[in-house]
Amino acid sequence: MRYLNKYQDEFDVLDAMEKDFIDEELIHSLLDANKNPGRDEVRRVLEKSRNCIRLDLDEMAILIGNNDPDTIQEMFGVAFELKKEVYGDRIVFFAPLYISDECANNCKYCGFRSSNVAIHRKTLNMQEIEEEVQIMIDEGQKRTVLVYGESPKTNVDFMCESVRKVYEVKTENGEIRRANINCAPLAIDELKKLKEVGIGTFQVFQETYHRKTYESVHPQGTIKGHYRWRLYAMDRALKAGLDDCGLGVLFGLYDWRFELMALLMHTMHLEKHFNGVGPHTISFPRITPATDTPFSLNPDYAVNDDDFKRIIAILRLSVPYTGLICTARESAQVRESVIPLGVSQIDAGTRIGVGAYSHAKHANMLPDKEQFTIGDSRSLDDVVGQICEMGNIPSFCTACYRAGRTGEHFMKVAKSKFVHNYCIPNAVLTFKEYLLDYATDETRLEGERVLAEHLNNLKGDAFEKTQAMIRRIEKGERDLRF
Ligand code: SAM
Ligand code: SF4
Repeated sequence: MRYLNKYQDEFDVLDAMEKDFIDEELIHSLLDANKNPGRDEVRRVLEKSRNCIRLDLDEMAILIGNNDPDTIQEMFGVAFELKKEVYGDRIVFFAPLYISDECANNCKYCGFRSSNVAIHRKTLNMQEIEEEVQIMIDEGQKRTVLVYGESPKTNVDFMCESVRKVYEVKTENGEIRRANINCAPLAIDELKKLKEVGIGTFQVFQETYHRKTYESVHPQGTIKGHYRWRLYAMDRALKAGLDDCGLGVLFGLYDWRFELMALLMHTMHLEKHFNGVGPHTISFPRITPATDTPFSLNPDYAVNDDDFKRIIAILRLSVPYTGLICTARESAQVRESVIPLGVSQIDAGTRIGVGAYSHAKHANMLPDKEQFTIGDSRSLDDVVGQICEMGNIPSFCTACYRAGRTGEHFMKVAKSKFVHNYCIPNAVLTFKEYLLDYATDETRLEGERVLAEHLNNLKGDAFEKTQAMIRRIEKGERDLRF
């Protein structure tokens, strides 16, 4: 059907393509062929992951089909080791900033969908963005992801203006140093504008790769209803020069086994067409209850906690170089249990309504009209403290993207396991800033212990240089990095 919107010509080109890169038949046949594999087969695949090599589809299918408790535990162990080897045991922190909940789409699972009259619609103006960012910086945030619905009010020029505003806000100690974007798919000329204002990762989640399910939850006639427009969002981003791309699936819409295989197919497609550049990050939100959104209360393919753990470990093992993001949709307990399986980024101190940071500060409460509920509403400082107790080092690092280590360059570094040569020293430096500028006494005490431990594990030159930079930070310098 014709949609008659500004992307219509591009929709027509996509519609005329004989096929796209998601081969549903192949996915189903590989899943069927690899149910309950032998332990030797599973261990052969784990050996490949251990060497930090991206898995092929049949290998991922073996991990998915494995139901043997012993080798599932082995899988968790290798995922843990692999994450440590590729990224070091640092966890990167960020917080989302909801810019607008105005949306012309009508996704069944989302509180922002156009037919939801329970939502009070709002787009922040520049003054309000400034207020939100100020509060985030005062809490210690350095990285954010800006979230938008799909509406003419938040077109790409507005997005660019909002990104510039976010970068403009400075306080005595801080500023937001990396603004990622989570928005609707865009055309190449629009994406080039986002590149110019210096966004970090460009995130678009496919939600579900299963066509029939996609059509059933995204009404035809809406822009989001066009499966291929979304499927090729990252191809256009990479063509526009945005080379840190974030993929994702919304778990609960269709069978998680199918979705994992499709995520890997998407990864392989990007690697093939863009000089080996796969996704910079993969997100795996599970549907959580949203205001006046019955579908979100009881999704058809709800993923339980045990399967959620397998999903994360399998992603880590299958795409070793990618960052894995576990958001505050999950409870503190769930996050604690999945972080050791290969998660590399989490949000904390999260508020998800439009204007929610100001609202929480002034009214000391969360707005009641949200896109979905969050499971972990602890403060940034509380989560930082817990991450330290788990033996990980919190990181507020934004060095790679600011040093131009993105896309192909990042992939080479990440794939060859050298990222921890940057990641750990930069985690130490940015965490030192956090401890000096924002931490409570209790977190500072625990944090200094974790920081010293990680500093002392650095070897030779890296140790000397990092230690010297720490002294400069103690004397008042900020934003030092490798
Ligand atoms: N409007 C843009 C879009 O849909 O791509 C981006 C913003 S949307 C608010 C960001 C993501 O939130 C969606 O891609 C979807 O995966 C997720 N989401 C929507 N409803 C949700 C729910 N009930 N529970 C958890 N995540 C949800
Ligand atoms: Fe709009 Fe995105 Fe929500 Fe769909 S998921 S209704 S496009 S904000």
